[in-house]
Amino acid sequence: MVQGRILKVSGPLVIAEGMREANMFDVVRVGDAQLIGEIIEMHGDRASIQVYEETAGLGRGDRVVSTGAPLSVELGPGLIRNIYDGIQRPLETLRLAYGANLQRGIDVPALDREKRWFFEPAVSYGDTVGEGDIFGYVQESAALSHKLLVPSGYAGTVAEIHAGEFTVTETVMQLRLQDGEIVPLTMMQKWPVRRARPIRERLAPSEPLISGQRTIDALFPIAKGGTACVPGPFGSGKTVVQHQLAKWSNVDLVVYIGCGERGNEMTDVLREFPELNDPRTGKSLMERTILIANTSDMPVAAREASIYTGITIAEYYRDMGYDVAVIADSTSRWAEALREMSGRLEEMPGEEGYPAYLTSRLAQFYERAGKAVCLGSDGRKGTLTAVGAVSPQGGDISEPVTQATLRIVKVFWGLDASLAYARHFPAIHWLTSYSLYRDRLSDWFSTHIAKDWMKKTGELLALLQQESELQEIVKLVGTDALCADDRITLETARSIREDFLQQNAFMEGDAYTEADKMYALMNLILDLDKKMRMAASNGADIDALSELPVREAIGRAKAIPYAEFRAKYAQIEAQIDQEIANVKGVN
Ligand code: ADP
Ligand code: MG
Repeated sequence: MVQGRILKVSGPLVIAEGMREANMFDVVRVGDAQLIGEIIEMHGDRASIQVYEETAGLGRGDRVVSTGAPLSVELGPGLIRNIYDGIQRPLETLRLAYGANLQRGIDVPALDREKRWFFEPAVSYGDTVGEGDIFGYVQESAALSHKLLVPSGYAGTVAEIHAGEFTVTETVMQLRLQDGEIVPLTMMQKWPVRRARPIRERLAPSEPLISGQRTIDALFPIAKGGTACVPGPFGSGKTVVQHQLAKWSNVDLVVYIGCGERGNEMTDVLREFPELNDPRTGKSLMERTILIANTSDMPVAAREASIYTGITIAEYYRDMGYDVAVIADSTSRWAEALREMSGRLEEMPGEEGYPAYLTSRLAQFYERAGKAVCLGSDGRKGTLTAVGAVSPQGGDISEPVTQATLRIVKVFWGLDASLAYARHFPAIHWLTSYSLYRDRLSDWFSTHIAKDWMKKTGELLALLQQESELQEIVKLVGTDALCADDRITLETARSIREDFLQQNAFMEGDAYTEADKMYALMNLILDLDKKMRMAASNGADIDALSELPVREAIGRAKAIPYAEFRAKYAQIEAQIDQEIANVKGVN
C-alpha cells in the first residue's frame, strides 16, 4: 500500500510526495476524511491528484493512500432507475442515509448489496463458455432483461450454476478454467472507466435512431451507433433537445449525464420520466434510464469523470446486445473542468486556455460510440450512440470546444438564437445543420418507411434552401416582383418551417411523431405545393392560391394523435383537391 503526504493543495488539485510506487490513474484516499481522488500526473515521487470532493480542510502533511486500483464502476443489476454522481455514488441512497448535503469521503457501493435478484441461468453444467458469453438473465426493470456476461479474459466450463435469488456479490456460477482452477462468478463486475470495453468487431452504423423529432429524423438523422452534437447559446433549447432524445429515442437504454448544468434540470427528469411511457414498450421511461448527475453545485473535478462513468455503463449494456444512447449536457462544462485542472497543473495552455489535449480527450469519449459485434459466441450486435450538448459563450461556434467537437462527430444540430427568440422550436437551423449519415440511412428509410423518403426529405431541404435565396431578393424588390413559382416556393417553405419543423416538446401529440406520420405530413405539404404549381401554370390566381384554408388544416395535423391522424389525412387530401379546383382561373 503506497502512502504519501500532502505537499500542496490548490482547489481540487492535491500534490503529494512519497508516491513513487503509485501508478498513474490510481484512485487514492486523501486526508483524514478519506476524500476520493485520482492520480493524473506523476513526477518522480510526486503525484498530482484530482480530488473529486471539496478539498477544504486538507493541509500539508496529511496522509494520502493509494488504493492501487484505477477509477472503476460497478456493473450489474441495479443500475437502471438509479441516479449517480460523477464517480458512481448513488445519490438517492446517500441522501436517505446522510441527508441532503453530500458528506465527504463516504463509501457507499454503487450497486445495492442487500437486494436480491432472481437469477435465471442461460447455460448448464458442463457447457463451455468464453468471454462475453451470456451465462444468465435477471429481469432488471420492467423494460429490460439484464444479460450476465462472462467477464473478458475468462473461458472454461460451467462447474456449477443454479437458478435462484441472489445479491450481486453472491456466487451464481462456478467456472472451471482450462487449467482446472475454479473461479466463482457473481452478477457484478468492475471496469476502469477510462478504458473502452472490448468488442469483437466494429461495424458501420446502418439504422437510424428514431427520435420522434421531425427536424432530426427527416432532415438530419442520426444512426444508432452514431455521434452528434447540439451546440447553441444559452436558452436556445439544448437541454430540451437532449431531454426529447432521452424520452423518445427508440433505444433500449438511455444514460443521461447532467454535467455542470443546473440541478433542477435533473430534478425535472426525475419528476417527468417516471410519469411518461416509452411509446414502444408502454413502460415508464425510468425503466430504461440511468442518470449521472454532476450538476453545477457539485465539485468540479467529478464532472471530468462523469462522462467516462456514463459511457462505461452504456458500453456494458451495449455488450449485452442492446441499443444504448448516452446523452451529455453539457460537454462545455466538462471541458471547463478539464481547463481548470490543466491550469492548476500549470500546463502549457492552448487556445482560450484549454489544454492542447482537449480534442483528443473529446475524441476518446465519442470514439466509444459505434455499432459493434459484441464479445461472445452468439454474434449479437449492440450500438452505442453518443450525443453531447455544447454551450459556446454567446453562441460563437468558432470557440475551441465546438470546433474540436465538430471535427469528431458526424451530426451537427446547430441551435440558433434568432430562431429561439422567434420561438421556432426546436431551434435547429436547417441551413447550418448537417448529418453525414443521411446517405447511409437512405436504404433503411426506403425499406421501412417509404420508398421515396430520401427524395421527399431532399425536397424539403431544397425548398428551404431556395427560400433563403429568394428572401435576399425579396429584401431588395419585395414579394410582388416574384414569379408565381417563386411565390409558391416561399409559401411552401413557410409551411415546412411552421407545420413540420416546429415541434412543441411540451404538447402531447406533438412532442413525439412516428416516422410514418412524418412522411404523411411532408406528403401533404409537398402535395399541396405540386398542385399549386400546376394550378398556377394553368392560370390560377396566385393570391387566391396563397390563401387556401387547407393550409390551416395542414398546420393542425402535426399535433393530431397518430390514431386519428389517418382519417384526417384522407380528408385533408380531398380538401386540397377541392379548394384548388375552386380557385378561379383554373381550367
Ligand atoms: P439551453 O439548454 O440551450 O439553455 P433550454 O433547453 O433550457 O435551453 O430551453 C430554454 C427554453 O426554450 C425552454 O425552457 C422552453 O421554454 C423553450 N424550448 C426549447 N425547446 C423547446 C421545444 N422543442 N418546444 C417548446 N419549447 C421549447
Ligand atoms: Mg441547458
